[in-house]
Amino acid sequence: MCGIVGYIGRKAAADVLLSGLEKLEYRGYDSAGIAVIENDGIRIAKSEGRLQNLRDKISNDTPFTGSCGIGHIRWATHGMPSDRNSHPHHSRKVTVVHNGIIENYIELKNFLIEKGYAFLSETDTETVAHLIDYFYNGDPFEAIKLALEMLKGSYALGILFNDSPETIYAVRKDSPLIIGIGEDENFIASDVPAILKYTDRYYLLEEKEIAL
Ligand code: GLU
Repeated sequence: MCGIVGYIGRKAAADVLLSGLEKLEYRGYDSAGIAVIENDGIRIAKSEGRLQNLRDKISNDTPFTGSCGIGHIRWATHGMPSDRNSHPHHSRKVTVVHNGIIENYIELKNFLIEKGYAFLSETDTETVAHLIDYFYNGDPFEAIKLALEMLKGSYALGILFNDSPETIYAVRKDSPLIIGIGEDENFIASDVPAILKYTDRYYLLEEKEIAL
């Protein structure tokens, strides 16, 4: 078990993501990462170990300024805990964080390699990023729907598309995910404590219901 947080609003997303992930630490994890949409594109920071390692990495670099992003703490099931296997995982136009297990990831990986995708990690999750990218033809909903038809297993997903810098997509199956509803800001999270500092209004996503 581990955790997802997503934020879109007016605040600096990185701060909200890190404070939300901290509230999910009780779930157990071995690495952490965030992806934020910056002016010049998606920027990802990830690190093995405690959330503090990620905080240190971020504070030693140019500050994140974007106000839309997704974050993750990982409990490794496929691939060792490492910077490279940490989430978010990125494909050409798609970035994802994932809780759960993709049972048919080997079959999907072979299919995607044949289609020309290169894999950087040993995770099952990276297949999700490439699969959604493979089906992406300008319509995020359609790409997610087609990808879900091929995915077997459990998932809570936070998804960013390069072409939709002001939108977070989310979907789940057999893994929890809520949508937090704020004033001029919205959230996704694995559990309520991650968003309570900002809002106590939330909606529990139905199985395979796609949110944006
Ligand atoms: N199966 C994925 C991985 O090993 C996600 C694990 C999790 O739920 O944190 O990266």
